[in-house]
Amino acid sequence: MLDIKITKTTTPKEKPAKGAALGFGRIFTDHMFIMNYTEGKGWHDARIEPYHNLELSPASMVFHYGQEMFEGLKAYRNGDAAYLFRPDMNAKRANASNERLCIPEIPEEYFVEAVKELVKVDKDWIPTDEGTSLYIRPFVIATDDFLGVAPSKTYMFIVILSPSGAYYASGLAPVGIWIEDEYVRAVKGGMGFAKTGGNYAASLIAQVKAHDGGYSQVLWLDGVERKYIEEVGAMNIFFKINGKIVTPMLNGSILPGITRNSVIQVCKSWGYEVEERKISVDELVAAAKNGSLEEVFGTGTAAVISPVGKLRYVDDVMEIGGGKIGELTQKLYDTITGIQWGKTEDPFGWRVEL
Ligand SMILES: *Cc1c(COP(=O)(O)O)cnc(C)c1O
Repeated sequence: MLDIKITKTTTPKEKPAKGAALGFGRIFTDHMFIMNYTEGKGWHDARIEPYHNLELSPASMVFHYGQEMFEGLKAYRNGDAAYLFRPDMNAKRANASNERLCIPEIPEEYFVEAVKELVKVDKDWIPTDEGTSLYIRPFVIATDDFLGVAPSKTYMFIVILSPSGAYYASGLAPVGIWIEDEYVRAVKGGMGFAKTGGNYAASLIAQVKAHDGGYSQVLWLDGVERKYIEEVGAMNIFFKINGKIVTPMLNGSILPGITRNSVIQVCKSWGYEVEERKISVDELVAAAKNGSLEEVFGTGTAAVISPVGKLRYVDDVMEIGGGKIGELTQKLYDTITGIQWGKTEDPFGWRVEL
């Protein structure tokens, strides 16, 4: 059990009105969770405090060498009930990231308890409009005042909350994806499997390029041969080819998405054959051209399921499924969001009530 000291704000902020456009990641709730780590002492001083700015030395290691990790999950509201979706998976993945980044392990039960307790304190901030949720951002930063290159001896684990709008304001809408042939995001042996800022810093330039080209997301190829499909900026990618579900195998440079894992389990339970394997961009282009590429969708906590209507690779622009949402894509979206919002049965035991 984590002993959390709770100090509530005496000046609560005004919550967004019902029906207000929330967008993503700009509004923050009244409270935050903080816990410190000191070498020799371990994690200590777990507390929930009024949301506030941090005061850090400009020499704090996180500013210089990027030793940090983050997570992302959501709380969903249904009447008086509030749910999390597989938070134990976020706790496990946080520690996989921590290990790669030489950040001390956070006991899984501490991670889950911190998230649960903070969401309970700010439960009234979980928005109730259709499709809205409370985005939860746990993260760790290295806080030693030191310009030498070494793992820090002190850290902060922080959780903040942000009410967020429906990802698709007017129903699921297919997006266009830019297959990046110049820049790469990660390589095997690097930290592609970890959720850490550095991977995002490396990806911005291609995102800008894709946006300039009129595409909303980047699809990365492997960092060595630039031949095999990896993942989208903040989503994993799935293809339906000749009735089979195909997704790149986890190879060390791809982020192991919790939505990805859930989609695989749901598809298998429906009797689909799911292949986790290498997929070359040439195979994909050929499948798109001969009509066997039936559906393409991304998976991630933010959008849950994101239909892909168009793929661009060098000189080829491929339209998928006539630019419409595939049947399986829609069914997966309905099924997984139904579980998350507590509207349907939960055959996998994924929902955690607060
Ligand atoms: C977080 C993330 C995903 C999606 O993971 P989920 O657990 O499904 O939200 C995919 N790719 C990258 C690079 C990510 O950071």
